[in-house]
Amino acid sequence: MSERNLICIACPRGCAIKVTLDDNNEVVSVEGATCKNGDTYARNEVTHPMRNLTSTVKVTGGIAPVVPVKTSIDIPKELLFDAMKLINEATLPAPVHIGDIAIKNILGTGADIIATNEAK
Ligand code: SF4
Repeated sequence: MSERNLICIACPRGCAIKVTLDDNNEVVSVEGATCKNGDTYARNEVTHPMRNLTSTVKVTGGIAPVVPVKTSIDIPKELLFDAMKLINEATLPAPVHIGDIAIKNILGTGADIIATNEAK
């Protein structure tokens, strides 16, 4: 048996959660989550943590040098570093519109890297 103590990041309340795992890393209990979202967050965090990634992508041929981007859905936490390498190499041609895709299905995750603002 082992324990993981987490601060829930599913909402600003920041509840302290304790997850108990058995020797096969299966969740035995979740304590301290005051709602279902927190319980789900805690179980996912100790088994397959996911994160939304925000960054910027270079814009070519326009006035703005970069445009803000994010993943369309959460991706596995362990892929964030490799995803950032691809994002740093990517470019979008001006003009960029909200929702334009800089990278489709990044690292086979099913997530697209999409623009979250306009860039001329
Ligand atoms: S457990 Fe629920 S109420 Fe507490 S921080 Fe997480 S989402 Fe918010």
